[in-house]
Amino acid sequence: MTSNKLSAHAPKVGFVSLGCPKALVDSERILTQLRAEGYAISPSYQDADLVVVNTCGFIDSATEESLDTIGEALAENGKVIVTGCLGAREDGALVRQAHPSVLAITGPHAYEEVMHAVHDHLPPLHDPFTDLIPPQGVKLTPKHYAYLKISEGCNHRCSFCIIPQLRGDLVSRPIGEVMTEAENLVKAGVKELLVVSQDTSAYGLDLKYKTDFWGGRPLKTKFYDLAQALGELGVWVRMHYVYPYPHVDEVIPLMAEGKILPYLDIPFQHGSQRILKSMKRPASSENALARIKAWREICPELAIRSTFIVGFPGETEDDFEQLLEFIDEAKIDRAGCFKYSPVDGAPANDLPDAVPEEIKEERWHRFMARQTEVSTSCLEDKLGKRMTVLVDEIDAEGAVARSYADAPEIDGNVFIDGATELKPGQFAEVEITEFGEHDLWGRVIPRT
Ligand code: SF4
Repeated sequence: MTSNKLSAHAPKVGFVSLGCPKALVDSERILTQLRAEGYAISPSYQDADLVVVNTCGFIDSATEESLDTIGEALAENGKVIVTGCLGAREDGALVRQAHPSVLAITGPHAYEEVMHAVHDHLPPLHDPFTDLIPPQGVKLTPKHYAYLKISEGCNHRCSFCIIPQLRGDLVSRPIGEVMTEAENLVKAGVKELLVVSQDTSAYGLDLKYKTDFWGGRPLKTKFYDLAQALGELGVWVRMHYVYPYPHVDEVIPLMAEGKILPYLDIPFQHGSQRILKSMKRPASSENALARIKAWREICPELAIRSTFIVGFPGETEDDFEQLLEFIDEAKIDRAGCFKYSPVDGAPANDLPDAVPEEIKEERWHRFMARQTEVSTSCLEDKLGKRMTVLVDEIDAEGAVARSYADAPEIDGNVFIDGATELKPGQFAEVEITEFGEHDLWGRVIPRT
C-alpha cells in the first residue's frame, strides 16, 4: 500500500503521542474512538493513510520536538492532523506557520474535532466486526497499569505556567464516569491506576462536588470520595498532582489502612515562601512541613515525590538554602528538578532579577546532590524490610519491579535478580537486600 491512498481494507491511521501522561490519556481516547469506528492503527508512517500527531507545547524543547515530529510525518506520509497543547498556541498559527500543509489543527482534549478531521480526510469503512472494541478502550501503557484522567484544565495561575491558557479552567469528569472507566480497566487486567489531572486535590470543585452514581450508588464528585471508591477496586491506586490543602488530610487514613497507596506526588516547586508567592503557587500559604509531619504521624510509610524549579527570577542564595532545607526536613523521597526557563506567554517572564545561567546550573547540581542523599537515606530505611512489588518486565538479569513508592517512568525500581519465573503484571513479596541512590534490590520471599 502506498502512503497516500485509501486501502480497500480498514483505513489506517498512524499515531504519534508526545508529552505528559495527560496528553497520553487524550491519545488513548482518540485511539479508542478510531478503533471503535473501524480504523486500523499503523505502526509506521509509510503504511498509514494519514497520521495524527498529539503534540506538547509546555516548554521550548517540547515545542521544537513537536514541530520536528510534524515535519517528519509530513515528509514521510504527507497527510497530517495535529492535536494537543501546541495546536492551541496562538490558535494554531504557530503550527500553521511552520507547516502550512497540515490538514487540521486542534488543541488538547478535542477528541470530537480530531475525529471530524479524520472523517473529512479519511472516511471510515463500515464494518460491524471492527466496530467492536474492548470496553476498557485501547491502552498505550503496558497492560498492567493505566492512567486515569479525572479532570482537565486548572483554576490556578502559576506565574511560570501557560497550561490554563492552553487548557482552560478546571473541568472535572463526573465521578460515575471516572469510576466506570476505572472498573473496566480493572476488569481488563489493570493492576495499578495512576490518577492524573492538573490539580487532583481540586477534583469536583467546578461541579460543586455534585452527587453522581456508580453502580446505583450515590457518590460525591470529590477527591476523598474518589479515593475511597477507587480503594475498593482491589488494585494499586496512586495519586498524582495533589497540593497540600487541609482537605487532603482526610485521604491519609485511607493510605494507612492500605486502601490506596501511601504515595503522593506533590509538585512543591520550591521551599521558600517568598518564591512560592512570586510563583503564585496553590497552597503557598500553607505550612507544608507541618502538614507532612502530621501525615507521617498517621501514615509513617508515606512516600512523597515532587518537582522543583531552581533559578526562578528573584531567587537568592538564602531562598535556595531554604529549598535545600525543605527537601531535607520534608524527607522528599523522590524529586525532579528543572532549571527555570521562560515559557512564551508566561507572566513570570516579566519578573525582575533573572538568575544567571551559571548560577542556575550550580544550584541545580547542589540540589541534585542533596536530593540524592535524602533519597539514599529513605531507601536505606527499607533495608531488610518486606515489601509488595509489582513486576513491570523481565530482562536477562531477572525481574524489574516497583514498590508502592515508585511510580512508573519517573521513580526508581526494585530489581529482583534471577527471578525470571515472575511475569509482568504480577505482584510479589520481596525482602529488600540492597539499596542504591534511587533503586532497591530484593529477593522473593517464597509463599509458605
Ligand atoms: S497548578 Fe499551576 S503549574 Fe499546575 S497547571 Fe495549574 S497553573 Fe500550571
